[in-house]
Amino acid sequence: MIPHFIYSNNYDFSLLGVDKFHPFDSKKFSKAWRLFSEKFTPKADFKWIEPDNMVSDKTLLNVHSQKYLNSLSKSKNIAQVIEVYSSRFVPSTLLIKGLLNPIKYACQGTIIATELALKEHTIVMNFGGGYHHAFSDHGEGFCFFADAVISIVEMRNKGLLGENDKVMMIDLDAHRGNGFEELTKHDSAISNFDMYNLHAYPGIHFGDPDDFPFMIPLQPKMRDERYFKLLEEHLDKFLDSQVEPKLIFYNAGNDILETDPLGGLSVSYDGVVRRDKFIIEKLIERNIPTVVMTSGGYTEKSCEIIAELASSIVGVTKNKYRQR
Ligand SMILES: [Zn+2]
Repeated sequence: MIPHFIYSNNYDFSLLGVDKFHPFDSKKFSKAWRLFSEKFTPKADFKWIEPDNMVSDKTLLNVHSQKYLNSLSKSKNIAQVIEVYSSRFVPSTLLIKGLLNPIKYACQGTIIATELALKEHTIVMNFGGGYHHAFSDHGEGFCFFADAVISIVEMRNKGLLGENDKVMMIDLDAHRGNGFEELTKHDSAISNFDMYNLHAYPGIHFGDPDDFPFMIPLQPKMRDERYFKLLEEHLDKFLDSQVEPKLIFYNAGNDILETDPLGGLSVSYDGVVRRDKFIIEKLIERNIPTVVMTSGGYTEKSCEIIAELASSIVGVTKNKYRQR
């Protein structure tokens, strides 16, 4: 079995200067892909699938309202989601072409990844996606479309996932996935593990910790040792909490990095790489179809960490294959 990676050159943003007002590296996806694909040989070490179209409005409507989708034709509404208010003066055609369309390609990437993970019972990484702050009727925190939830609904519609098949989310982005939570809270087949900085947007989860044992708030500036202690303490309990899950999503935001301007945590570069490898080893060991998404990460190191994550997937898969 070789792992599958989803990436398109269409993922990069072209924001005509808007990115000067946000720490997001608009070329992070292509940089990550270049770093990764220079190290390995396509076909021998991995399979590359390129989304050749954007997610359709019809598919988006399974989760999002028509009113919300219509609202994204106006610059001021797009500006609100990315929290770069000066971009409301940019013509909407440019924002759609340079920002929304790349995000729609990445969203389609998560759908393709999910379908492949289920059909081929493997691990599939999308080099984008992980938009965990998107709600049915609005977007927040740079997230427009709830790609993981859209993918779940799409797989159910295609009959690849039953309504009661267990789906698990491991969200280790520094920010709490409030959109994913809201969209899935009444769905008993979906369970959520979220370790997040309680002082960063969107703040603490107000549910009773007894009812939500896997919503794990972290103190700001938390460093490697404490971070790993909590992760190791809780992750196996979470994975053991569901019998035979059908699918797992890993939201691998690397904004827990100490230099990240938005994450507010203090995990070292080696610590983030180690975290991703730790998760990949666990999921491959458990042999559960897995979809990895890159989510947040706002430093010049983000692309390198994404490439390291993809390399870990190749390395861990090769090791497992060799052991057989
Ligand atoms: Zn984040």
